[in-house]
Amino acid sequence: LTFEEANLCQTLNNNIAKAGYTKLTPVQKYSIPIILAGRDLMACAQTGSGKTAAFLLPILAHMMRDGITASRFKELQEPECIIVAPTRELINQIYLEARKFSFGTCVRAVVIYGGTQLGHSIRQIVQGCNILCATPGRLMDIIGKEKIGLKQVKYLVLDEADRMLDMGFGPEMKKLIYYSLLFSANFPEENQRLAGEFLKSNYLFVA
Ligand code: AMP
Repeated sequence: LTFEEANLCQTLNNNIAKAGYTKLTPVQKYSIPIILAGRDLMACAQTGSGKTAAFLLPILAHMMRDGITASRFKELQEPECIIVAPTRELINQIYLEARKFSFGTCVRAVVIYGGTQLGHSIRQIVQGCNILCATPGRLMDIIGKEKIGLKQVKYLVLDEADRMLDMGFGPEMKKLIYYSLLFSANFPEENQRLAGEFLKSNYLFVA
């Protein structure tokens, strides 16, 4: 499989070429077709394996296919994709990749994390964002203040989920999965009911 054959989109292919990527890494070969097909994925891959592009590229391709145009972007003030990672460094890296790959499109990526002014994070979101990159604590603070709409969320990425669990973010992750499913306009009621039951059990969700 090559990037051209992966059937992403032309702007993305240009940005991939500009980044100097010529061959897909194993995790990209595996995950890009699955995410493009709209299926859920749980993947384990080490840092340096290219896992960031493995989820960002198909998510961006979906957004481009859905036709994020300037006018539609104005209507869509709420994130379609939320990416959570345990540390400031990690989420910043993901944000920079998201910026790099969305160059020349109308997709706006935003990054928020703890240790900065809450008001600043809120303003970033309110100005409109399609891809929200966040650390778990800051994200839950903002959800708690009802400063973010979750109705448009189609993609939820929990990067380094095992590390977030180790750091004690298990309850935040559970809540986030629950809210994303519950408030999503894209989820039928039956799925919401199932998600609710799933979260009531003691099942541990690791992505
Ligand atoms: P990651 O595992 O996502 O942290 O990526 C590790 C590094 O590999 C980053 O600097 C990426 O820009 C780079 N990278 C990711 N995918 C590819 C690829 N297909 N070809 C070359 N470099 C890549």
